[in-house]
Amino acid sequence: MKVSTHRQHHVQIVESFDLAEFEPGSTTKLRVSMVGNGIGGLISLPVVILRGVEPGPVMGLTAAIHGNELNGMRVIQKVIAHVKPSRIRGTVICVPVVNVPGYLNNTRHFNDGYDLNRVMPGKRGGTNSQVYAHRFMERIVSHFDYMIDLHTASFGRINTLYVRADMTNPDTAWMALCQQPQIVLHNKGADGTLRGAAMDRGVKSITVEVGNPNAFQSDMVDDGATGVLNVLSRLKMIEDSEHQHPGEPVVCVSSYWMYTEVGGVLEVYPQLAARIRKGEVVACVRDIYGDLIEEYRAPEDGIIIGRSTHPVNQTGSRVIHLGIEGTIDQHNHAYAPDGSTDPDLPNGTD
Ligand SMILES: [Zn+2]
Repeated sequence: MKVSTHRQHHVQIVESFDLAEFEPGSTTKLRVSMVGNGIGGLISLPVVILRGVEPGPVMGLTAAIHGNELNGMRVIQKVIAHVKPSRIRGTVICVPVVNVPGYLNNTRHFNDGYDLNRVMPGKRGGTNSQVYAHRFMERIVSHFDYMIDLHTASFGRINTLYVRADMTNPDTAWMALCQQPQIVLHNKGADGTLRGAAMDRGVKSITVEVGNPNAFQSDMVDDGATGVLNVLSRLKMIEDSEHQHPGEPVVCVSSYWMYTEVGGVLEVYPQLAARIRKGEVVACVRDIYGDLIEEYRAPEDGIIIGRSTHPVNQTGSRVIHLGIEGTIDQHNHAYAPDGSTDPDLPNGTD
């Protein structure tokens, strides 16, 4: 019998853990078993626990809940490489890939076709994705005081480095600004999202959108990692001083996607983070022979948070994710440019 040598044979598989079990000042790589698969094996989640020497907050870092959104995994690896547990106050729990089946299939969705970031907090005794979501909340998120959930754009689209956070909540507004992104989008976190489910359980959470799917973008990854370290510094979990990025983030109080109304070949004009004016042509659809069918114009002034890059366009395809700039006052009210205030401003999903 030939015994296979597996480089990760020393990684322990557990069903649950108690943070007090880990040595102060230690780094522990684990696999947390989630569900059984169709050959009777386990689908387990890679987790790294950086337990500091002094008591303090627990920060959860999560990536790839959409299985093809990969920059966040590299952000987390960089944070693990940088942070020394012997110098941490509190604990950092790192989950580089939340949606393991989706990651292995190169897909956004879980392997039952559902979006894990729309079924949170899941359900005990539920469907494939619901039970996975439920166990993720119970076995992982239940340990967190804070969470940074890392995403990217979806297939066929690209994103700026932007943060989605409830900017009217002082506990999350500072986390968003500390990340020093290009854009901060005020957004309370829709039902079914990991951020929304974590916030409901008292975990102070933001979502960071780090560029494009299916790739590692080294500059975006570096900026994402710097942002995470800034949050750890502000919480005094690490001693590093905060890194100051030149320029302030643009604060948007709402956002929405524009969709096409005709099918054909789509071309989108503005670059990411470009400011556009009401009436400006942002995209066109041509027929397959190249003749213009329709032009799309910006319905109001805004900034390009994300945009399509995929020319093959069926009616109803996304064009641009338009952010509407506004202000958050010292009483934590969000104001749109026309002076109207929230809470029911529209917001495009990631
Ligand atoms: Zn995502």
